[in-house]
Amino acid sequence: MKGVAFLGLGILKGMVVTGKNWVRSYFDSDRLITVEYPEAKMQLPENSRNFPFLVFDGDNAEANLRCTSCKTCEKECPPKCIRIVTAKDEKGKPFKHPEVFDIDISTCMSCQICVEVCPFDAIKMDSAYEYAAITRFDALVLTKRELAKPNEYYKKIKPVEAAEVDARLEADRKKKEEASKKKAAANVGG
Ligand code: SF4
Ligand code: SF4
Repeated sequence: MKGVAFLGLGILKGMVVTGKNWVRSYFDSDRLITVEYPEAKMQLPENSRNFPFLVFDGDNAEANLRCTSCKTCEKECPPKCIRIVTAKDEKGKPFKHPEVFDIDISTCMSCQICVEVCPFDAIKMDSAYEYAAITRFDALVLTKRELAKPNEYYKKIKPVEAAEVDARLEADRKKKEEASKKKAAANVGG
């Protein structure tokens, strides 16, 4: 009899906890977790990742792409899903820019190795997840046009990481500027 009363009390306590949570879920905005997708979308956490994208500065996706077509990511990508063709000038001489940059997302395993090996902070992991498309090629191979996204976008989806990258790039830029000033002064002096 004592055991039954004890069990009843336990159930009652559990119901009180559930009831409190249920009532609080109507007033605590952090707990209103139902999002009316696709009209509304959740801001994904900074460390979420799906497939990579290419960062460009300013507003010209083609001219200001950070990628120098060094092909390090292409070599290091474990499933070999990156394809890069280096751009050439009118004399056929290659220059530091990708003419073609494709990622086959049907084999990309979101490992982030391409991001880690890139010496120019040109490729980062995206948190976008809506990749449904009409044809198979459109859905599975992302081209340079689809991959290129502004630094502003990077700052929006990964504010802390992007701020660190910006600070590092700015420090590098200043260092190079100082070095070239010193070199110019030495040339004048010499
Ligand atoms: S995330 Fe990994 S698998 Fe995907 S493109 Fe980068 S290196 Fe390749
Ligand atoms: S994304 Fe980075 S590692 Fe890959 S080719 Fe461009 S600069 Fe090189």
